[in-house]
Amino acid sequence: MTYRPTIGLEVHAELATETKMFCRCKNDPEASEPNTNVCPVCLAHPGTLPAANRDAIHRVLRVGAALGSKLADYSEFDRKSYFYPDIPKGYQITQYEYPFVAGGELAGVAITRVHLEEDTARSSHEGAGNTSEVDFNRAGVPLMELVTEPVIHDAKTAGNFARELQQLLRTLGASHANLEKGEMRIEANISVSKDDTFGTKVEVKNLNSFRSVERAIEFEIARQSKLLDEGGKVLQETWGWDEVKQETFRQRSKEGSADYRYFPEPDLPKILRSDIPEWSDEALKASLPELPASVRARYLALGMKDDDAIFVAYDTTRREFFDGVIAELGDDTSTHTLAINYFISDLSGLAANVTTDTERSTATYGGVTSESFAALIRMVKENKLSSRGAKDVLALMFEKGGDPEAIAQAEGLMQVSDPAALEAAVRGVIEANPGVVEEYKAGKEAGLQFLVGQSMKATKGAGNPALLKELLLKELA
Ligand code: ADP
Ligand code: ZN
Ligand code: MG
Repeated sequence: MTYRPTIGLEVHAELATETKMFCRCKNDPEASEPNTNVCPVCLAHPGTLPAANRDAIHRVLRVGAALGSKLADYSEFDRKSYFYPDIPKGYQITQYEYPFVAGGELAGVAITRVHLEEDTARSSHEGAGNTSEVDFNRAGVPLMELVTEPVIHDAKTAGNFARELQQLLRTLGASHANLEKGEMRIEANISVSKDDTFGTKVEVKNLNSFRSVERAIEFEIARQSKLLDEGGKVLQETWGWDEVKQETFRQRSKEGSADYRYFPEPDLPKILRSDIPEWSDEALKASLPELPASVRARYLALGMKDDDAIFVAYDTTRREFFDGVIAELGDDTSTHTLAINYFISDLSGLAANVTTDTERSTATYGGVTSESFAALIRMVKENKLSSRGAKDVLALMFEKGGDPEAIAQAEGLMQVSDPAALEAAVRGVIEANPGVVEEYKAGKEAGLQFLVGQSMKATKGAGNPALLKELLLKELA
């Protein structure tokens, strides 16, 4: 039978601050040399004390402001105790009862909370001689955790929410949010049930791409449904995603929250938002850039198709390039449509040649700038370039850079819109095609299109087709 799936997401993101969460070490978990960005605080030497990174708090509050959440006036940190080599203090500093951010919404999904914590060290079990190694460069890196309500009911919505969140974090400059670098980590909680009550959820980890998030959810829905159909029971467990086999696998049973012995961190002061002017609702709101949802709405209003709006809005380079073009073109909406068409089908085609993975790529536009692209669009609008000529000029701009008008002149691609310059070509075509001319005069309309084509050929593609047609009609009248 079919069951109703329910999904809630938990997303961690490393914040792109200069320094770590509770010490002044450089925040650079990717540093090639292990254990270089470390100090007595993040190595948990006895007698050291943490001091909270204000910039990290500011970033989480801005995320909350962008989500339309309720921001806490009072907040505090807590200790979450557990024992593992990647957690040198024997506890993680996190937030439990008083997160900075509660409620809010993104891409139609209700947010439960966003809180701040510290990242763990990175352990590797591939050390020489069958040993484990720990790199503390990541220990103490500021990490935000966002939790959604269990309000998602299909894989695609979950994937789209995660994509939208990545774009939001990048737009805010909160996090680089690359999944493949672990800067953004997604866990999916999945359950199925026969009715509106919730079934037992399974938490799935190791989701390294948005596609994996969607596939893992689909896989779990099918697995749990089959299990229930066969009279089995779903257990509350943590499962992993096997990227090679494209299936989930059992990792461990879930610990209850009581095991963590949460209690307020005694070494850090309580936080009152009113103490810092930049943390006020007004200041945070005023600091927000245009958010991805608004960018998309703006593109739709310009006449972009849904998928194209996402394609452009979700990639910072693409978006900035395109916004630059529109800014250059100003209010002339007729050029906007041309700009969209040439950007989506032609320039993005050229750009796609130098990038591979659309999900991760940042587009590059070779020698083309927003300004030169806008100049090209204006030339098309003013009939100085045919669409064929524009494509050729654009390819040359991409390859070598430069001004479209100069390129078009140098390559003989300027569209000729001077009647005197085209009349000879038109007469030549009429003389060379007496049969077609006769048929046309006898009523066969298609002949005219043929003669326009021949005239284009005769002008080596430089003739303005509308004008050629006009001249032909005059000659044939
Ligand atoms: P836990 O106490 O096990 O950590 P939480 O209530 O904190 O569970 O929820 C963790 C995540 O699981 C949230 O994203 C929440 O939306 C989601 N979740 C909770 N219950 C369910 C359920 N029955 N099915 C799917 N997801 C759920
Ligand atoms: Zn440190
Ligand atoms: Mg929980």
